[in-house]
Amino acid sequence: MNVHDSEHISGVLEKAGYQRTDLPQEADVVIFNTCSVRKSAEDKVWGALQAISGKGQVVAVCGCMARRLGADIFTRAPRVNLVFGVEELGKIVDLIEMSKNSQVLALGNVDDCEIDSHPTKRNNFLSAWVPISYGCSRFCSYCVVPYVRGRERSRPFSEILAEVDSLASEGTVEVILLGQNVNSYGRDFQEPIGFAEVLDFVASVEGIRRVKFETSHPRDISYSLFEVMRNREEVCPHLHLPFQSGSDRVLKHMRRGYDRQFYLDVINHARELVPGISLTTDIIVGFPGETESDFEDTLALVEEAQFDFAYIFKYSSRENTRAYLLEAELGKISEADKTRRFLEVSRLQDEITERALKRFVGREEEVITLSHAKKGPYVIGRTATNHIVLLPEKDAPIDSLIRARITASGKHALRGEVQELLIPKRVEPLPCAENVLRYSG
Ligand code: SAH
Ligand code: SF4
Repeated sequence: MNVHDSEHISGVLEKAGYQRTDLPQEADVVIFNTCSVRKSAEDKVWGALQAISGKGQVVAVCGCMARRLGADIFTRAPRVNLVFGVEELGKIVDLIEMSKNSQVLALGNVDDCEIDSHPTKRNNFLSAWVPISYGCSRFCSYCVVPYVRGRERSRPFSEILAEVDSLASEGTVEVILLGQNVNSYGRDFQEPIGFAEVLDFVASVEGIRRVKFETSHPRDISYSLFEVMRNREEVCPHLHLPFQSGSDRVLKHMRRGYDRQFYLDVINHARELVPGISLTTDIIVGFPGETESDFEDTLALVEEAQFDFAYIFKYSSRENTRAYLLEAELGKISEADKTRRFLEVSRLQDEITERALKRFVGREEEVITLSHAKKGPYVIGRTATNHIVLLPEKDAPIDSLIRARITASGKHALRGEVQELLIPKRVEPLPCAENVLRYSG
């Protein structure tokens, strides 16, 4: 969601004549779009703010830290000139000018955020994120999202369809529908509409070959969703369904609204109804009061569910959440125990992932290439099942659709060779402004 918000920040700045630079020291403006979900994400920003060395630059912080900490950011990082909420994005150019004279704090009402009405400078042409809702009303006890992003607001269905239509007419073939909980889409409308229906419509838009979505919540998922996934070949057979903990006791304290058996029933139905579905998940270890036996329940669920991949997190204490207030009562888990549990569950999941990836070797897959790999002469692409495929850079331009043969599998990714370039990279128009201001973010 944040990466997509950054595409809007880029869109607004580029429309105003700014040009992106990958060299922060050269930039006139440096913008940090931040995440507050875990303390480690915030720590990275504090570290980066300290390392800022450019003279005469405007340094701006927006996103969840701006919302959570407001003017306190100026106290801890006096180098920052501007703290703003993305709902103020329409005023960004004026805010940058004002902040050259004094520090500026610009936070509006998060519920009024209409970020999708702004221009977008997308990172990719072929694959595009399309938000369908903002915020979250689930209030899982450990999570800051409802506080920093506000209560759930569904985006009007007509607006979503219009955006997908327009993307398809420009050549986009994959859309990824975004929401903190896509399954509760439309419940805030006077005439509710289900997510399965939205998905069905989006998948029917001419030119759209692949539709993905995240994130799903086990409590709100409907079985009609699985039917759409089975019946519509455009809907990708991938479900990201966080379970967070395998222990019923911990799930209760997390206020997730389901127990372990409920979760297992959902994924069993998903597998039954959508052949070949790939399942991924999120897990938190070290939630307050988590005993060894609770943790064993998490390990057992990982073993039973056989996910293709899992994002694993150590519980991070977030001020003013319910879990934060419960820490004294339930007992904090030591950093050493959190780390041990993290490593143990990671080791188990890594084995499962490595084994699961082997089933792809020898198959042909359609891959959309998205970025350059950090190491080696490869590009990173994704299959319809959302698996990562590394392809040789010399054969695979970024932002193209490729038919690839999977030649090998590793710990977390597949390797492939290019069989056919199905849709080549689109050539972008060159920027024409000469004396432009530069930004980095
Ligand atoms: N809306 C999505 C994603 C929310 S944030 C969902 O509900 O699944 C992404 C992941 O971060 C969560 O699934 C959870 O596993 C993790 N997370 C959220 N708050 C956390 C915290 N305080 N400590 C550790 N992990 C956390
Ligand atoms: Fe946070 Fe829970 Fe909402 Fe996900 S569903 S964003 S974890 S409150």
